[in-house]
Formats: sequence, C-alpha cells, structure tokens
Amino acid sequence: MKAFGYSQVREPAEAVRAARQTPGAAFIAGGTDLLNLMRDGAQHHDHLVDINHLDLASVADSSKGLRIGGLARMRHVAEHRSVRERYPVLAEALEASASPQVRNMATIGGNLLQRTRCGYFRDAASACNKRAPGSGCSALEGWNRGHAVLGGSEHCIATHPSDLAVALLALDAVVHLLGPDGPRQVPVDGFHLRPGNAPHVDTVLRPAELITAVEVPRPAARSRYLKLRDRATFEFAVVSIAAVVDLRGGRVRDVRLAFGGIGTTPWRSPEAEAVLRGAPLTVDAIERAGRALVRDAVPRQHNGFKVELVQRALVELLSGWGGSR
Ligand code: SF4
Repeated sequence: MKAFGYSQVREPAEAVRAARQTPGAAFIAGGTDLLNLMRDGAQHHDHLVDINHLDLASVADSSKGLRIGGLARMRHVAEHRSVRERYPVLAEALEASASPQVRNMATIGGNLLQRTRCGYFRDAASACNKRAPGSGCSALEGWNRGHAVLGGSEHCIATHPSDLAVALLALDAVVHLLGPDGPRQVPVDGFHLRPGNAPHVDTVLRPAELITAVEVPRPAARSRYLKLRDRATFEFAVVSIAAVVDLRGGRVRDVRLAFGGIGTTPWRSPEAEAVLRGAPLTVDAIERAGRALVRDAVPRQHNGFKVELVQRALVELLSGWGGSR
C-alpha cells in the first residue's frame, strides 16, 4: 500500500473543510472496503480524514419514519428493535450482508459507497474503465458470471454489491448529505449512477460531500428481502429482491420492488410494479411482472442464467404473500 496522510475530525463541517482543503483526500470510517481497495492498488488517496468521532451514529424512529446516522454500524441498525419490527426488509438485507465482523465495523454511509466486486476492478493488472478510465473493460469478453444484465454500457457491466441499498431503494429512502455548499438530500433512487460513458463515477456525491444520514419513510405495508448467493454466508448476491407490498383482500394496493445482482445500480422496476399494482397477487401476475422486469435484459456469455433466476426468485418471494394460480 502506498503511503497516505491521516487526520481526525470532531464535527461534520470540520470534516467537509478538511476533505476540501486536502488534495486527494477521502473520508474513512469503518474502512472495511476502502482499505482493501488501497491495499490492492485499485484505489489510492493521498490523505484519509477519519470521521469515526462525528456524532452521526444514532438510529431514531418516529411516526414519520426512521433516521439512521451515516456512521451507524450495520449491526447496530440490523439489531435495532424498531428496524426489526417496522422495517424487516432492512434488517433482513443487513443480516444477509458480509460477515458479523464486518457488520460490527462497516457503516451505513460506507455501505452505500462501497465499490463493485468485479474481479477485474480489484486486479490492478487488468483493463478496467471503472478503475482506470479509457483502459477498456475486461469483463465484456471475459468472465462475467457475476455481472449485470440491466443498465450496462459498452464501457462497464459491473453490478453494485450493496444489499442495504436494494432495501433502501424499495423503501423510498432519502440520503442526507453535507458538502462545501451546505446540506442537500438525494433519493436513493438516483443516488447511484449507471456506467454510461463514465463508469468511474459511481454516485452523485460531489467532492468533499459527506453522508450524514439516511431517512426511511415508515412503510404502510409488509416487506421482505430475498438473497440468492453461491454460499450461505459472507457472499455477495447473485440475485436479490427487496419487496414492499401493501396487500388488501388478496389484491395488491401498492408495491415497490428493488433488485440486486442484476443491474449496474440497485435496480427498481416500475414496469414490474405496474403489472402487479391493482392486480390479485397470483403466480400468473407475478410471472408477468418478472417478464416485464427482464424485458430489456442484455445477457453476456456467462450471466444469462440470471434472467431466469430473478424471475423464479420473484415468484418464490411474492408467492409467500399468498399467491396462487
Ligand atoms: Fe471494470 Fe466495469 Fe469492466 Fe468490471 S465491468 S472490468 S468494473 S469496467
């Protein structure tokens, strides 16, 4: 790992100032992804601003919803009583993430900003437009079993690895930011960017901006998270689904569906939701929703199985709500 500078801050505004005034600076909290990237040579920062002492780790629930501090640890959020009772999709997504050791350290803000697990991205010897813009994409003609079938471009087809982001997307959560120009809010639906011509830019975060909190409206519906992976623990999703479903008298009054493992960003499907909204929750309807979800899928050499798998997973998840033919 290359040498870097280090400083600690105590206030959010001080953190923003420090990151703005120090060229090549980045924030560090849990460090569970950032330090691996720096050690592997996939990413370098001349200076790290340690934000662990900022007062941004609380979790508070009210009648309006949940406010999670950007520095709240994954385990703390997953075990929070209100989260388990009122936002089960969130608790399930967090508990399906990483390992207990990582969940003890990793923060909510850091989880949203983690980088892709594309093996070429983390191998400094491989061509990768996300790591080295303009160098090419080794995955297009290489081993692409774990890659996206939706939202890709000719420059990158990497998936976003966060389970949490998929759950927050289905919950219509909003990210609170503090930057040199003051605070602003960005819906999770829009926070992550598709690769397009600039796959090295993952999010709408501006230089020196800090995630201070995530706000989650309280859902008036049941929610669940399903994650399919190659092994039972400490593994990223091959396919995952977060579903928030308001079911009245066997009909879907409202539904929000978000998917992981298939898109270049946490993937919301208005098309699939439109099929289900107002319909009886039958297996037939769920299968039609699945077909709408993958209508624009672009499978590559090794990842075509995801197109079928995600449709089956959707039936598996939603038929648990009482779907019949
Ligand atoms: Fe890099 Fe994206 Fe291609 Fe992976 S898919 S090698 S991250 S450009």
